[in-house]
Amino acid sequence: MAEFDVIVIGAGPGGYLAAERAGQAGLKALLLEKQHIGGTCLNEGCIPTKTLLRSSKLYDAALSGAPYAVHAEQVTLDHPAVVNRKRAVTASLVAGVKAGLKAAKVKTVEAPSMLKGRTAGGFEVEAAGETYVGKHLILAVGSHPVVPGIEGLSDSMKSGFVLTSTGLLEIPEVPESLCVIGGGVIGLEMATYFAAAGSKITVVEAAGKIAGSLDADATGLIMKSCEAQGMRFLMNTRAIAFREGTVTVESADGKREDIACEKALLCIGRAPNLDGYGLENLHVPTEKGAILVDDFCMTGVPGVYAVGDCNATGMLAHVAYRQAEVAVNHILGKYDPMRWACVPTLVHTEPEAAFVGLSLDEAKAQGIDAAGVKLSMNYSGLYLAENENGQGIIKAVFDRKKKTMIGALIVGGPASELITICGIMIDNELPVERMKSYVFPHPTYAEAIREAIFAAKL
Ligand SMILES: Cc1cc2nc3c(=O)[nH]c(=O)nc-3n(C[C@H](O)[C@H](O)[C@H](O)COP(=O)(O)OP(=O)(O)OC[C@H]3O[C@@H](n4cnc5c(N)ncnc54)[C@H](O)[C@@H]3O)c2cc1C
Repeated sequence: MAEFDVIVIGAGPGGYLAAERAGQAGLKALLLEKQHIGGTCLNEGCIPTKTLLRSSKLYDAALSGAPYAVHAEQVTLDHPAVVNRKRAVTASLVAGVKAGLKAAKVKTVEAPSMLKGRTAGGFEVEAAGETYVGKHLILAVGSHPVVPGIEGLSDSMKSGFVLTSTGLLEIPEVPESLCVIGGGVIGLEMATYFAAAGSKITVVEAAGKIAGSLDADATGLIMKSCEAQGMRFLMNTRAIAFREGTVTVESADGKREDIACEKALLCIGRAPNLDGYGLENLHVPTEKGAILVDDFCMTGVPGVYAVGDCNATGMLAHVAYRQAEVAVNHILGKYDPMRWACVPTLVHTEPEAAFVGLSLDEAKAQGIDAAGVKLSMNYSGLYLAENENGQGIIKAVFDRKKKTMIGALIVGGPASELITICGIMIDNELPVERMKSYVFPHPTYAEAIREAIFAAKL
């Protein structure tokens, strides 16, 4: 029976990084993965979607070059080649992860694993016919798409009429029409690519707004841009039945419509993986369908940690990465709790949007004496030069008493890159006066952040 300091189950961002960090710190680490190293993020999530979106954004840019005095003819988007490129990008990243694990001396076993229970030596796990014992256990088993019990859905998924994002990312041909059930981040990113690739898109969203918790100004701009691409949005509307070629939807006021479509994408959310790997054998507490963790990602069973999607505290790859380090540092006896207030959220639509920290309303609801600023991204000369009729905005929220930034939202340009600057300011509670004296390079999109700082009335 092989013994380890740490056994990590699941090799997505949470798991592979936890195993690598543990190995780098000199711990004897074992990583168990049942499907593919890299998990959802590298194989069927973050990276594949962004690879597709890079192609569709280049294609769109080529088609809309006229305002920039660029006239391209016979521009095409070769979907099968895009899918092949996506596979190559993924393979390259997965190879990099494997090399990192090897360098950190992590033993990796590619097989499903089963938690067996606890013995005097630690936690027992079975994989590929072997029993392993770990002094510590890190669960990084991820999540799966939610599939509700809607009429005809199960058969439609079996026949391939309804796909999850995983299936759609591998589709060999662009469907003529695509009904996207769920206007969250995944649905919007997939819709953005397939609309550019030529699909007629209908987005069906049960809520009154798209993109979950994203600010209404941002979702308004994204929706306007998506509609200009030809997408149709059915808000406050649910899918109630599926049959080959048709999705029946019903609006909140009871109106029904049959949407004819070649394919449908089901993306109404993801749920933590709790079943099928013996979680019950360790009596790990769960709540609302997720593994309960504290600020150190430890579960209710001392020595057992849960990071990433399976604890549902963020359902984002960067949350999983950070939690991997938090858990390993706790095992190493280092004080390094998760700080929840400063986790950025992003969507790679056109325009791109990202936010971090509090909105003005959230800050006020918390009793903070807060001041908000909203500026056009055109305050950045580079944004203006590069974006004809750009509608981008930056919103920033400040704590008047502490004179620090506490929240930011950026729509337009490389918003998901820019938001890191705001996140660092917020996380470190940098005084506004200190931020004002920082020399921002010119011309850059980041100068819009500087403008927002100077515009704050504190
Ligand atoms: C289409 C799509 C786009 C996304 N885009 C973004 C994005 O742009 N930015 C972002 O931050 N997030 C994005 N996400 C979310 C992101 O992929 C997840 O938050 C992230 O992968 C979670 O990492 P994880 O390590 O917790 O789980 P996962 O990446 O899901 O990895 C879990 C791993 O555990 C393995 N496993 C499960 N059970 C067992 C077992 N019993 N034995 C062995 N192995 C097991 C699974 O096979 C899997 O490989 C996207 C997700 C999707 C689906």
